[in-house]
Amino acid sequence: MSTELSAAGQALYPTLLSPLQAGTHRLRNRVIMGSMHTRLELLDRAIERQAAFYAERAKAGVALIVTGGYAPNAEGRIDEDAPVLDSAEHAHTLRPIPQAVHAHGGKILLQVLHAGRYAKVPQPVGASEIPSRINPRAPRRLSEAEIGATIEDIARCSTLALEAGFDGVEIMGSEGYLLNQFAVTRTNDRSDAWGGSVENRQRLAVETVRRVRQRLGPEGLIMYRLSAIDLVEGGAPPDEIVQLARAIEAAGADIINTGIGWHEARIPTIAYVVPRAAFRFAAARVQRAVQIPVVASNRINTPELAEAIVGSGDAAMVSMARPFLADPEFVRKATEGRADQINTCIACNQACLDYIFSDRATSCLVNPKAGRELDFQEMPRPASVRTVAVVGAGAAGMACAIAAAERGHRVTLFEAADTLGGQLNWARAVPGKEEFHELMRWFRRQLEVQGVTVKLSTRPDVAQLRAFERVVVATGVRPRVPAIPGIDHAKVISYPELLSGRRSAGLKVAVIGAGGIGYDVAEYLLNHGAETAEQFQAEWGVDSSDQSAGGLKPEAPVTPRREVTVLQRKPEKPGRTLGMTTGWALKARLARQKVRFLTGCEYLRIDDAGLHLRIGGEPQLLAVDHVVICAGQDSERGLHEALQTAGIDAALIGGAERADELDALRAIDQGTRLAWTF
Ligand code: NAP
Ligand code: SF4
Repeated sequence: MSTELSAAGQALYPTLLSPLQAGTHRLRNRVIMGSMHTRLELLDRAIERQAAFYAERAKAGVALIVTGGYAPNAEGRIDEDAPVLDSAEHAHTLRPIPQAVHAHGGKILLQVLHAGRYAKVPQPVGASEIPSRINPRAPRRLSEAEIGATIEDIARCSTLALEAGFDGVEIMGSEGYLLNQFAVTRTNDRSDAWGGSVENRQRLAVETVRRVRQRLGPEGLIMYRLSAIDLVEGGAPPDEIVQLARAIEAAGADIINTGIGWHEARIPTIAYVVPRAAFRFAAARVQRAVQIPVVASNRINTPELAEAIVGSGDAAMVSMARPFLADPEFVRKATEGRADQINTCIACNQACLDYIFSDRATSCLVNPKAGRELDFQEMPRPASVRTVAVVGAGAAGMACAIAAAERGHRVTLFEAADTLGGQLNWARAVPGKEEFHELMRWFRRQLEVQGVTVKLSTRPDVAQLRAFERVVVATGVRPRVPAIPGIDHAKVISYPELLSGRRSAGLKVAVIGAGGIGYDVAEYLLNHGAETAEQFQAEWGVDSSDQSAGGLKPEAPVTPRREVTVLQRKPEKPGRTLGMTTGWALKARLARQKVRFLTGCEYLRIDDAGLHLRIGGEPQLLAVDHVVICAGQDSERGLHEALQTAGIDAALIGGAERADELDALRAIDQGTRLAWTF
């Protein structure tokens, strides 16, 4: 990192990149890599992998890292596979993780997390017996003696973290976990010393911090993760949140991190539909109340935004978790004035949260190397520099071309259209999916940086491709045209025609196909472009004033712009293929817009009257202005077949290889991994 380039970053992000004193620790900048449950422990060589994962981020300049949650005792585990830190033997095995981070000048905290009534263990425990809607197992009420023992378990876990070499702990007190559950009347109906008055409800959090401080002494860094807005009925009002922050500060915490929303909240907090920094106000409220550094979090994904937050004083630090999956070099690139090369987290959740919730180790849609650092580091270097032709500049082709060039090969990328992006161009037209613009910016910039020769509006023939040592066919897909009588009628619009803006739809629209694109098209038809934070708060009923308990207010009424009906042939409930952690928010938005879903449809014909169909044997007419076709895709393999006929060995990737369930995740992963075999 040259002084000149560092100076560039300092000028652009003067506060973000400036050091900060927290307790007895000097942090090299204001950037925290927030806690994520990575599930890397599910893979072989788990500790080695975690050490490599965190080390790569520390090496590139992040100041403070927080691990995924470790339970202080068995009943506090999020689920039965979650790690517990309750013995010196276990602590010893973790030593390589902090060592790897310290080797690169970073600091690292172990997160201590007691899941309380969210724990998916045989018998969860809680402040009361009030169950959660996201855990079928009702909690058992902790006795006063057990509460004391729980504080002791958290203190022991924290001591073990220090013995393992961590710089301290993050005590998890947000997202609706145990400490948060005690703090609010929603989940605490006790009448003893741990319930009733605000002080009693907050006692567990405060006593825990006090005990941990006693055990760790001044050297242990303590960060408390406070729920800055609960987003549930019966959640804490702002004055109680501020009161707790002050009590936590007085009890000995060095930093207050902020959590947004309980896991059972019905308001999205990190999905792509959340505008950037939409919850900044909640951290600012806490920062105004205390002297110690407060950390802003949720949907912060660029250094510009991070600088705006810390520069304004809304928070002293920012926490980003997913952005460090997307690009481990986030801080280094900002420091060197190369923010245009940051691979930005697009908040899709597809390879991080959706993987974690389906018991897979985390990775990243835009960066398949995330969480697989060792696998890539250990791959052999190419024996020689090769000439590589990649045909098709969609997600798979661009990822392959960039990775091949990074490996030192001479790469030419051909694209038949006059623009890069393929199907990604349709995704970024969808309201709420504006982050896909960032992915396109990254692809474009990387193609330049890696020196890939890009030939747009070019369809190479077999003779041209014969000259290359490696040929990759990523020619993508074409939208499927269903065999419905009248499919050529003027009322029919294909999804690329609609999303590219080449055609527009009337006020009554039928959408054929209820896959991801059918849902996206409905969203496009009903909602305008990107929402501001204020619009998002009004839509979802988030109260940023100092008034309401839980930070809730009534949702703004919605008057749909169009009458939209989405159809599928299968009789099953639609939306099965949507993202596990984002699909519910999309469904809620469309429900608010009164979108009608019809299943078990048999399409009869399209004519001047509209779409004729049959459901359960009953003929129906949808008198619509337009019918948008979102009936999936077919692979475009003509070139690959011609190459095979000519005896040229060519790899086939992305939608060209398999159109079913095509998405950017598979395309980028496949393209990148293929290039690493060259
Ligand atoms: P898809 O998920 O395969 O859905 C295609 C839809 O078209 C289905 O509803 C299917 O239902 C219907 N269909 C298929 N063949 C048909 C035919 N011959 N006639 C009439 N209807 C037909 O494909 P997609 O929506 O194009 O999405 C492509 C990929 O991108 C998917 O992997 C998807 O998950 C992903 N994606 C995801 C999101 C998201 O999660 N938000 C957004 C965009 C894209 P029936 O066969 O029952 O009619
Ligand atoms: Fe961000 Fe999507 Fe990557 Fe998760 S998978 S880190 S949300 S880009």
